[in-house]
Amino acid sequence: MPDSLKLISEEVRTCKKCPLYKHATHGVPGEGPKDAKIFFIGQSPGRMEDQTGKPFVGRAGRYLTKMIGSIGLKREEIFITSIVKHYPPENRAPKPNEITACKPYLLRQLAIINPKIVVLLGKTAETLRNEPVLKDKKVITTVHPAAAMRFPKMKKRMQRDFKALKKLVWA
Ligand code: SF4
Repeated sequence: MPDSLKLISEEVRTCKKCPLYKHATHGVPGEGPKDAKIFFIGQSPGRMEDQTGKPFVGRAGRYLTKMIGSIGLKREEIFITSIVKHYPPENRAPKPNEITACKPYLLRQLAIINPKIVVLLGKTAETLRNEPVLKDKKVITTVHPAAAMRFPKMKKRMQRDFKALKKLVWA
C-alpha cells in the first residue's frame, strides 16, 4: 500500500513509540493539503492542540494564522505540523529520544507533500536544518510564534523572516 497522510495520521493517533503518548489526550499529526507548497514545522503540540488533535489552534496558532495572512496566504494552503506529535507534559521541550522516535512521521509527511518551502518555527525545529530531505528545499528559520507574542525583539525577527518568506512565495 502506498504511504499516505491519512495512514500517517492513523499511526500517530495509536503510536506508543516514545513515552509522550502516556500523558497526552490526542496525537496531533498535523494538517493541510497534500499539494501544499509550504510546510511549517513547530516543536510539539501544546495544551489546546492536545485537547483538539489539531495543530496550532491556541493563542500562538492564532498569531501564526495572522502572520500567514499578512503575506497573502491562507492557512488552508499550508501544511502545518511539529517534530513530535504528542503533547510533552507541562509543555516542556521534547527530549532527544522522543524526537528520534517521532521524526520518521515528519520525514514521511515531507516526502509525500514534497513542498518547495519549509519554515522551521523555533529552536527545536531548527535542529532539522541539515536533514538531507531539506537539501533541495528553500528553508526559512524563524522564532516560534509563542516567543514572538511575548518578546518584542522576537516579534520583529518573525516579521523580518516572514517578509523574506513572502519574497520566496511570490517570486
Ligand atoms: S510523540 Fe511521536 S513517537 Fe512519541 S508516541 Fe507520539 S507519535 Fe509516537
